Amino acid sequence: MKDKIEVFPGDEVAVEEEYLAAEGTFAKDGKIYASQIGLLELNDEECIARVISPNPPNILKIGDVVYAVVADIRKTMATADVVAKEGTERGLGGETYATIHVSKISPGYTDDVSRELRKGDRIRAVVTGTSPSLQLSTKDDHFGVIRSLCGTCKAELRKKGNGLYCEKCEKTTPRKLADDYGDVIF
Ligand SMILES: [Zn+2]
Repeated sequence: MKDKIEVFPGDEVAVEEEYLAAEGTFAKDGKIYASQIGLLELNDEECIARVISPNPPNILKIGDVVYAVVADIRKTMATADVVAKEGTERGLGGETYATIHVSKISPGYTDDVSRELRKGDRIRAVVTGTSPSLQLSTKDDHFGVIRSLCGTCKAELRKKGNGLYCEKCEKTTPRKLADDYGDVIF
């Protein structure tokens, strides 16, 4: 194994006569080029050229637990921006705009999205689909709203029964809460 050198997308790293293009590379006109930033690995035993990214982008997949901010409430769904994946501090690559269908918000039947989620709510959710778009679910106990500010006065909302209470406005609003609402720093 040769010394690993850093290469950039488009750098010529090998020739097809000697190596096969693998992860992080592509072949064109007999030459092999890097398709991503990373360390070049020329494996002489298997005759494979690879470019290994030190920080591969976090592409979300089904089953991943994510943190998101509710962006909009529509008739049959909520939209949310995924900001992090649980268990990693690395940034997210790929799609982060997600939808949560009304049937995937709460374990019980609901036909009113605004009774479960509100714009600006911080939520924990699970990825249930990635194609053709990112889809989330907050059905389980551990999923749902983990932090929220009052839509009127921006005060931190407190858990009260099955909803959230604003001490300043003395108002309770319903929500699909995660079982640890208020205990999560986000
Ligand atoms: Zn308030």
